[in-house]
Amino acid sequence: MDLLDTLVAKGLNRELPTREEALAVLATADDDLLDVVAAAGKVRRKWFGRRVKLNYLVNLKSGLCPEDCNYCSQRLGSKAEILKYTWLKPEEAAQAATAGVAGGAKRVCLVASGRGPTDRDIDRVTDTIAAIKDADPGVEICACLGLLSDNQAERLAAAGVDAYNHNLNTSEATYGDITTTHTYADRVDTVQKAHGAGLSACSGLIAGMGETAEDLVDVVFALRELGSDSVPVNFLIPFEGTPLAKEWNLTPQHCLRILAMVRFVHPDTEVRIAGGREVHLRSLQPLGLHIANSIFLGDYLTSEGQAGQADLDMIKDAGFEVEGQGEATMPRHRSEYAEQFAGGCGTSGGCGSPADTSGAAPADGCGGHAGGACGPCGEPAQATAQASPDADDLREDLVRVRRRGAGTELAPNA
Ligand code: SF4
Repeated sequence: MDLLDTLVAKGLNRELPTREEALAVLATADDDLLDVVAAAGKVRRKWFGRRVKLNYLVNLKSGLCPEDCNYCSQRLGSKAEILKYTWLKPEEAAQAATAGVAGGAKRVCLVASGRGPTDRDIDRVTDTIAAIKDADPGVEICACLGLLSDNQAERLAAAGVDAYNHNLNTSEATYGDITTTHTYADRVDTVQKAHGAGLSACSGLIAGMGETAEDLVDVVFALRELGSDSVPVNFLIPFEGTPLAKEWNLTPQHCLRILAMVRFVHPDTEVRIAGGREVHLRSLQPLGLHIANSIFLGDYLTSEGQAGQADLDMIKDAGFEVEGQGEATMPRHRSEYAEQFAGGCGTSGGCGSPADTSGAAPADGCGGHAGGACGPCGEPAQATAQASPDADDLREDLVRVRRRGAGTELAPNA
Protein backbone atom coordinates (compact mmCIF):
# COMPACT_ATOMS: atom_id res chain seq x y z
CA MET A 1 0.00 0.00 0.00
CA ASP A 2 1.80 3.09 -1.27
CA LEU A 3 0.19 5.44 1.23
CA LEU A 4 1.25 3.44 4.25
CA ASP A 5 4.75 2.77 2.94
CA THR A 6 5.18 6.51 2.43
CA LEU A 7 3.88 7.34 5.90
CA VAL A 8 6.11 4.77 7.59
CA ALA A 9 9.16 6.12 5.75
CA LYS A 10 8.27 9.67 6.76
CA GLY A 11 7.54 8.69 10.36
CA LEU A 12 10.85 6.89 10.75
CA ASN A 13 12.55 10.01 9.40
CA ARG A 14 10.43 12.44 11.46
CA GLU A 15 9.00 14.04 8.34
CA LEU A 16 5.61 15.70 8.31
CA PRO A 17 3.02 13.98 6.12
CA THR A 18 0.94 16.11 3.78
CA ARG A 19 -2.62 17.04 4.75
CA GLU A 20 -3.83 14.84 1.89
CA GLU A 21 -1.97 11.86 3.34
CA ALA A 22 -3.42 12.51 6.79
CA LEU A 23 -6.92 12.73 5.32
CA ALA A 24 -6.32 9.52 3.39
CA VAL A 25 -5.54 7.65 6.63
CA LEU A 26 -8.96 8.70 7.97
CA ALA A 27 -10.54 7.46 4.74
CA THR A 28 -9.04 3.97 4.76
CA ALA A 29 -11.42 1.02 4.64
CA ASP A 30 -12.06 -1.40 7.49
CA ASP A 31 -10.46 -4.09 5.30
CA ASP A 32 -7.18 -2.15 5.56
CA LEU A 33 -7.42 -1.45 9.29
CA LEU A 34 -4.78 -3.90 10.46
CA ASP A 35 -2.38 -2.63 7.79
CA VAL A 36 -2.92 0.91 9.10
CA VAL A 37 -2.30 -0.20 12.70
CA ALA A 38 0.80 -2.15 11.68
CA ALA A 39 2.21 0.85 9.80
CA ALA A 40 1.63 3.24 12.70
CA GLY A 41 3.07 0.56 14.99
CA LYS A 42 6.37 0.61 13.10
CA VAL A 43 6.68 4.33 13.75
CA ARG A 44 5.63 3.94 17.38
CA ARG A 45 8.20 1.21 18.03
CA LYS A 46 10.98 3.19 16.35
CA TRP A 47 10.66 6.07 18.81
CA PHE A 48 9.06 4.50 21.91
CA GLY A 49 9.78 0.78 21.71
CA ARG A 50 7.15 -1.26 23.55
CA ARG A 51 6.92 1.12 26.51
CA VAL A 52 3.56 2.42 27.73
CA LYS A 53 3.58 5.50 29.92
CA LEU A 54 0.87 5.52 32.58
CA ASN A 55 -0.63 8.81 33.72
CA TYR A 56 -2.93 9.25 36.69
CA LEU A 57 -5.65 11.90 36.94
CA VAL A 58 -6.50 13.63 40.19
CA ASN A 59 -9.45 15.99 39.90
CA LEU A 60 -8.59 18.66 42.47
CA LYS A 61 -11.84 20.58 42.01
CA SER A 62 -14.84 19.09 40.26
CA GLY A 63 -17.81 20.68 38.52
CA LEU A 64 -19.39 24.15 38.87
CA CYS A 65 -17.27 25.64 36.09
CA PRO A 66 -18.34 29.05 34.71
CA GLU A 67 -17.16 28.12 31.20
CA ASP A 68 -19.51 26.56 28.65
CA CYS A 69 -17.48 23.89 26.81
CA ASN A 70 -20.22 21.78 25.24
CA TYR A 71 -18.35 18.47 25.65
CA CYS A 72 -17.69 18.88 29.36
CA SER A 73 -19.74 17.42 32.19
CA GLN A 74 -18.41 20.16 34.49
CA ARG A 75 -19.61 23.05 32.31
CA LEU A 76 -21.90 25.89 33.17
CA GLY A 77 -25.45 24.51 33.21
CA SER A 78 -24.41 20.87 33.05
CA LYS A 79 -27.14 18.51 34.27
CA ALA A 80 -24.75 15.57 34.44
CA GLU A 81 -24.87 14.03 37.89
CA ILE A 82 -21.14 14.16 38.47
CA LEU A 83 -19.28 14.64 41.73
CA LYS A 84 -19.07 18.32 42.63
CA TYR A 85 -16.56 19.54 45.16
CA THR A 86 -14.18 22.41 45.74
CA TRP A 87 -10.40 22.19 46.16
CA LEU A 88 -9.12 18.98 47.73
CA LYS A 89 -6.79 19.44 50.65
CA PRO A 90 -3.15 18.76 49.72
CA GLU A 91 -3.10 15.54 51.77
CA GLU A 92 -6.29 14.30 50.09
CA ALA A 93 -4.83 14.94 46.65
CA ALA A 94 -1.55 13.33 47.67
CA GLN A 95 -3.40 10.24 48.85
CA ALA A 96 -5.05 9.81 45.46
CA ALA A 97 -1.81 10.56 43.60
CA THR A 98 0.11 8.06 45.69
CA ALA A 99 -2.40 5.35 44.83
CA GLY A 100 -1.87 6.07 41.14
CA VAL A 101 1.90 5.95 41.45
CA ALA A 102 1.68 2.70 43.39
CA GLY A 103 -0.43 1.34 40.52
CA GLY A 104 2.35 2.10 38.03
CA ALA A 105 1.73 5.70 37.01
CA LYS A 106 4.79 7.74 36.14
CA ARG A 107 2.97 11.06 35.80
CA VAL A 108 0.27 12.54 38.02
CA CYS A 109 -2.06 15.01 36.31
CA LEU A 110 -3.51 17.57 38.69
CA VAL A 111 -6.67 19.04 37.17
CA ALA A 112 -9.08 21.70 38.40
CA SER A 113 -12.27 22.89 36.77
CA GLY A 114 -12.60 26.60 36.08
CA ARG A 115 -11.58 29.26 33.59
CA GLY A 116 -8.15 29.55 35.11
CA PRO A 117 -6.35 29.68 38.44
CA THR A 118 -6.13 32.61 40.80
CA ASP A 119 -2.81 33.30 42.45
CA ARG A 120 -4.30 31.74 45.61
CA ASP A 121 -5.07 28.62 43.55
CA ILE A 122 -1.44 28.45 42.48
CA ASP A 123 -0.53 28.49 46.20
CA ARG A 124 -2.92 25.56 46.80
CA VAL A 125 -1.40 23.58 43.93
CA THR A 126 2.08 24.38 45.21
CA ASP A 127 1.17 22.88 48.59
CA THR A 128 -0.35 19.85 46.89
CA ILE A 129 2.77 19.24 44.80
CA ALA A 130 4.91 19.44 47.93
CA ALA A 131 2.73 16.80 49.59
CA ILE A 132 2.92 14.52 46.53
CA LYS A 133 6.67 14.93 46.10
CA ASP A 134 7.16 14.33 49.80
CA ALA A 135 5.75 10.84 49.25
CA ASP A 136 7.50 10.27 45.91
CA PRO A 137 10.13 12.78 44.77
CA GLY A 138 10.52 11.11 41.37
CA VAL A 139 6.94 11.46 40.16
CA GLU A 140 6.28 13.69 37.15
CA ILE A 141 3.67 16.38 37.75
CA CYS A 142 1.41 17.81 35.07
CA ALA A 143 -0.96 20.63 35.98
CA CYS A 144 -4.19 21.38 34.13
CA LEU A 145 -5.78 24.46 35.66
CA GLY A 146 -7.23 26.30 32.67
CA LEU A 147 -6.11 29.57 31.12
CA LEU A 148 -2.91 30.97 32.62
CA SER A 149 -2.20 34.59 33.43
CA ASP A 150 1.25 36.15 33.24
CA ASN A 151 3.84 34.60 35.55
CA GLN A 152 1.62 31.72 36.66
CA ALA A 153 3.46 29.21 34.48
CA GLU A 154 6.73 30.36 36.00
CA ARG A 155 5.30 29.93 39.50
CA LEU A 156 4.13 26.42 38.64
CA ALA A 157 7.55 25.54 37.24
CA ALA A 158 9.17 26.79 40.44
CA ALA A 159 6.74 24.63 42.44
CA GLY A 160 7.95 21.50 40.68
CA VAL A 161 5.45 21.17 37.83
CA ASP A 162 7.01 19.37 34.86
CA ALA A 163 4.25 19.79 32.29
CA TYR A 164 1.12 21.82 31.66
CA ASN A 165 -1.94 20.43 29.90
CA HIS A 166 -4.22 22.62 27.87
CA ASN A 167 -5.91 21.02 24.89
CA LEU A 168 -6.75 22.79 21.64
CA ASN A 169 -9.59 20.26 21.36
CA THR A 170 -10.73 21.04 17.83
CA SER A 171 -9.93 23.16 14.80
CA GLU A 172 -9.75 26.93 15.01
CA ALA A 173 -12.58 27.13 12.46
CA THR A 174 -15.03 25.20 14.65
CA TYR A 175 -13.84 26.25 18.10
CA GLY A 176 -16.69 28.76 18.47
CA ASP A 177 -19.21 25.94 17.96
CA ILE A 178 -18.11 24.12 21.10
CA THR A 179 -17.26 26.99 23.46
CA THR A 180 -18.26 30.65 23.59
CA THR A 181 -16.68 31.78 26.86
CA HIS A 182 -13.12 31.65 25.62
CA THR A 183 -11.41 31.39 22.26
CA TYR A 184 -9.04 29.12 20.41
CA ALA A 185 -6.48 31.93 20.58
CA ASP A 186 -6.82 31.97 24.39
CA ARG A 187 -5.92 28.28 24.42
CA VAL A 188 -2.94 28.72 22.12
CA ASP A 189 -1.74 31.56 24.34
CA THR A 190 -1.79 29.35 27.44
CA VAL A 191 0.15 26.56 25.71
CA GLN A 192 2.72 29.15 24.67
CA LYS A 193 2.93 30.55 28.20
CA ALA A 194 3.58 27.05 29.53
CA HIS A 195 6.26 26.38 26.95
CA GLY A 196 7.80 29.78 27.53
CA ALA A 197 8.22 28.96 31.22
CA GLY A 198 10.09 25.79 30.34
CA LEU A 199 7.18 23.45 31.05
CA SER A 200 6.59 20.52 28.75
CA ALA A 201 3.46 21.29 26.74
CA CYS A 202 0.72 18.68 26.78
CA SER A 203 -2.01 19.59 24.34
CA GLY A 204 -4.41 17.42 22.43
CA LEU A 205 -7.84 17.04 20.93
CA ILE A 206 -11.30 15.59 21.32
CA ALA A 207 -12.67 13.51 18.44
CA GLY A 208 -16.33 12.68 17.93
CA MET A 209 -17.93 16.09 18.49
CA GLY A 210 -19.41 16.24 14.99
CA GLU A 211 -16.28 17.69 13.37
CA THR A 212 -15.20 16.99 9.80
CA ALA A 213 -12.11 15.03 8.84
CA GLU A 214 -10.55 18.33 7.79
CA ASP A 215 -11.15 19.73 11.29
CA LEU A 216 -9.39 16.77 12.84
CA VAL A 217 -6.42 17.13 10.52
CA ASP A 218 -6.35 20.89 11.17
CA VAL A 219 -6.09 20.50 14.93
CA VAL A 220 -3.53 17.70 14.72
CA PHE A 221 -1.33 19.80 12.43
CA ALA A 222 -1.83 22.84 14.68
CA LEU A 223 -0.60 20.81 17.65
CA ARG A 224 2.50 19.90 15.71
CA GLU A 225 3.07 23.56 14.83
CA LEU A 226 2.64 24.45 18.50
CA GLY A 227 5.30 21.95 19.50
CA SER A 228 3.17 19.87 21.83
CA ASP A 229 5.33 17.29 23.62
CA SER A 230 2.40 15.03 24.40
CA VAL A 231 -0.86 14.78 22.50
CA PRO A 232 -3.81 13.33 24.41
CA VAL A 233 -6.42 11.99 22.00
CA ASN A 234 -9.81 12.10 23.70
CA PHE A 235 -12.85 10.39 22.25
CA LEU A 236 -15.96 12.30 23.27
CA ILE A 237 -17.82 10.77 26.19
CA PRO A 238 -21.37 11.97 25.46
CA PHE A 239 -22.55 12.67 29.00
CA GLU A 240 -26.28 12.88 29.59
CA GLY A 241 -27.00 16.44 30.70
CA THR A 242 -24.54 18.07 28.28
CA PRO A 243 -25.24 19.57 24.83
CA LEU A 244 -23.30 16.77 23.09
CA ALA A 245 -25.12 13.90 24.84
CA LYS A 246 -26.44 12.53 21.53
CA GLU A 247 -23.15 12.74 19.61
CA TRP A 248 -22.34 9.05 19.28
CA ASN A 249 -20.22 9.38 16.15
CA LEU A 250 -17.33 7.01 16.65
CA THR A 251 -16.66 3.36 15.96
CA PRO A 252 -13.73 1.42 17.42
CA GLN A 253 -12.25 1.10 13.93
CA HIS A 254 -12.42 4.82 13.31
CA CYS A 255 -10.83 5.59 16.66
CA LEU A 256 -7.85 3.51 15.52
CA ARG A 257 -7.66 5.42 12.23
CA ILE A 258 -7.68 8.71 14.16
CA LEU A 259 -4.91 7.48 16.46
CA ALA A 260 -2.88 6.35 13.44
CA MET A 261 -3.30 9.72 11.73
CA VAL A 262 -2.11 11.46 14.92
CA ARG A 263 0.89 9.11 15.15
CA PHE A 264 1.95 9.81 11.56
CA VAL A 265 1.75 13.58 12.13
CA HIS A 266 3.47 13.27 15.54
CA PRO A 267 5.84 10.35 14.97
CA ASP A 268 8.20 11.05 17.89
CA THR A 269 5.73 12.77 20.24
CA GLU A 270 4.00 11.11 23.16
CA VAL A 271 0.58 10.14 21.82
CA ARG A 272 -1.84 9.30 24.62
CA ILE A 273 -5.15 7.52 24.39
CA ALA A 274 -7.14 9.68 26.79
CA GLY A 275 -10.79 9.93 27.80
CA GLY A 276 -13.26 7.64 26.05
CA ARG A 277 -10.80 4.76 25.58
CA GLU A 278 -13.07 2.14 27.12
CA VAL A 279 -16.30 3.69 25.79
CA HIS A 280 -15.23 3.90 22.15
CA LEU A 281 -12.31 1.52 21.50
CA ARG A 282 -13.85 -1.16 23.68
CA SER A 283 -12.42 -4.60 22.82
CA LEU A 284 -9.99 -3.00 20.34
CA GLN A 285 -8.12 -1.11 23.10
CA PRO A 286 -5.03 -3.37 22.82
CA LEU A 287 -4.65 -2.45 19.13
CA GLY A 288 -4.50 1.17 20.24
CA LEU A 289 -1.35 0.37 22.22
CA HIS A 290 0.39 -0.45 18.93
CA ILE A 291 -0.11 3.21 17.95
CA ALA A 292 -0.13 5.26 21.16
CA ASN A 293 2.62 5.04 23.77
CA SER A 294 0.69 6.47 26.70
CA ILE A 295 -2.66 6.02 28.47
CA PHE A 296 -4.41 7.06 31.66
CA LEU A 297 -4.47 4.48 34.40
CA GLY A 298 -7.83 3.89 36.09
CA ASP A 299 -10.50 6.58 36.20
CA TYR A 300 -10.98 9.91 34.45
CA LEU A 301 -12.03 13.27 35.86
CA THR A 302 -15.75 12.66 36.15
CA SER A 303 -16.18 9.17 34.68
CA GLU A 304 -14.89 5.75 35.61
CA GLY A 305 -12.48 3.80 33.47
CA GLN A 306 -11.85 0.09 33.63
CA ALA A 307 -10.11 -1.26 36.72
CA GLY A 308 -6.47 -0.21 37.00
CA GLN A 309 -5.47 -3.85 37.14
CA ALA A 310 -7.29 -4.44 33.83
CA ASP A 311 -5.15 -1.68 32.28
CA LEU A 312 -2.00 -3.39 33.52
CA ASP A 313 -3.18 -6.81 32.34
CA MET A 314 -4.02 -5.42 28.92
CA ILE A 315 -0.56 -3.90 28.54
CA LYS A 316 1.13 -7.15 29.50
CA ASP A 317 -1.13 -9.38 27.43
CA ALA A 318 -0.53 -7.23 24.35
CA GLY A 319 3.23 -7.59 24.77
CA PHE A 320 3.99 -4.11 26.03
CA GLU A 321 5.62 -2.95 29.26
CA VAL A 322 4.90 -0.16 31.69
CA GLU A 323 7.46 2.65 31.43
CA GLY A 324 9.38 3.11 34.66
CA GLN A 325 10.29 6.32 36.47
CA GLY A 326 13.94 5.94 35.47
CA GLU A 327 13.18 5.63 31.76
CA ALA A 328 13.00 8.63 29.45
CA THR A 329 9.68 8.93 27.66
CA MET A 330 10.88 11.00 24.75
CA PRO A 331 13.62 10.09 22.27
CA ARG A 332 16.82 11.96 23.08
CA HIS A 333 16.59 14.36 20.15
CA ARG A 334 13.28 15.65 21.50
CA SER A 335 14.85 17.35 24.49
CA GLU A 336 16.86 19.52 22.09
CA TYR A 337 13.67 20.15 20.14
CA ALA A 338 11.84 21.19 23.32
CA GLU A 339 14.53 23.74 24.03
CA GLN A 340 13.70 25.47 20.76
CA PHE A 341 10.19 26.10 22.00
CA ALA A 342 11.09 27.27 25.49
CA GLY A 343 10.68 31.02 25.34
CA GLY A 344 8.49 30.86 22.23
CA CYS A 345 9.25 32.70 19.04
CA GLY A 346 9.06 36.07 20.72
CA THR A 347 6.29 37.43 18.56
CA SER A 348 3.19 38.68 20.24
CA GLY A 349 0.22 36.76 18.96
CA GLY A 350 2.54 34.67 16.82
CA CYS A 351 2.69 30.95 16.52
CA GLY A 352 5.09 30.52 19.38
CA SER A 353 7.07 28.02 17.40
CA PRO A 354 10.00 28.03 15.06
CA ALA A 355 8.75 28.33 11.52
CA ASP A 356 8.28 24.97 9.87
CA THR A 357 7.54 25.77 6.29
CA SER A 358 9.48 22.94 4.75
CA GLY A 359 6.92 20.24 5.38
CA ALA A 360 9.67 18.35 7.19
CA ALA A 361 10.24 17.89 10.88
CA PRO A 362 11.70 20.91 12.64
CA ALA A 363 15.42 20.46 12.35
CA ASP A 364 16.05 17.61 14.54
CA GLY A 365 14.31 18.46 16.75
CA CYS A 366 -6.68 21.28 29.17
CA GLY A 367 -7.26 17.34 30.03
CA GLY A 368 -10.83 17.61 29.57
CA HIS A 369 -10.40 21.21 30.18
CA ALA A 370 -9.42 17.55 28.94
CA GLY A 371 -11.78 16.11 0.77
CA GLY A 372 -10.94 14.43 -1.28
CA ALA A 373 -7.77 12.47 -1.08
CA CYS A 374 -6.12 9.47 -2.57
CA GLY A 375 -7.08 6.31 -0.81
CA PRO A 376 -4.62 3.50 -0.29
CA CYS A 377 -5.55 1.83 -3.55
CA GLY A 378 -4.92 4.98 -5.54
CA GLU A 379 -8.62 5.61 -6.05
CA PRO A 380 -10.10 8.88 -4.85
CA ALA A 381 -11.46 8.37 -1.37
CA GLN A 382 -13.86 10.48 0.59
CA ALA A 383 -12.36 11.40 3.91
CA THR A 384 -15.01 11.45 6.59
CA ALA A 385 -14.60 12.53 10.17
CA GLN A 386 -16.26 9.43 11.41
CA ALA A 387 -17.64 6.17 10.15
CA SER A 388 -21.38 5.80 10.41
CA PRO A 389 -21.98 4.06 13.73
CA ASP A 390 -24.90 1.70 13.98
CA ALA A 391 -27.18 1.19 16.97
CA ASP A 392 -24.61 -1.09 18.61
CA ASP A 393 -22.19 1.83 18.83
CA LEU A 394 -24.52 3.92 21.00
CA ARG A 395 -23.06 2.66 24.24
CA GLU A 396 -24.61 4.84 26.93
CA ASP A 397 -24.29 1.78 29.18
CA LEU A 398 -20.49 2.24 29.19
CA VAL A 399 -20.62 5.83 30.49
CA ARG A 400 -20.23 5.54 34.24
CA VAL A 401 -20.05 8.65 36.39
CA ARG A 402 -17.10 8.52 38.78
CA ARG A 403 -18.17 7.66 42.32
CA ARG A 404 -14.82 6.70 43.86
CA GLY A 405 -11.40 8.19 44.46
CA ALA A 406 -10.75 11.94 44.85
CA GLY A 407 -13.66 13.73 46.52
CA THR A 408 -15.22 10.54 47.91
CA GLU A 409 -14.69 8.23 50.83
CA LEU A 410 -13.90 5.33 48.50
CA ALA A 411 -10.45 4.21 47.43
CA PRO A 412 -9.15 5.45 44.06
CA ASN A 413 -9.11 3.08 41.11
CA ALA A 414 -5.46 2.40 40.44
S1 SF4 B 1 -13.32 21.89 29.87
FE1 SF4 B 1 -12.49 23.01 31.65
S2 SF4 B 1 -13.02 25.17 31.21
FE2 SF4 B 1 -14.33 23.94 29.87
S3 SF4 B 1 -16.26 23.65 31.06
FE3 SF4 B 1 -14.92 21.87 31.48
S4 SF4 B 1 -13.83 22.39 33.36
FE4 SF4 B 1 -14.67 24.30 32.52
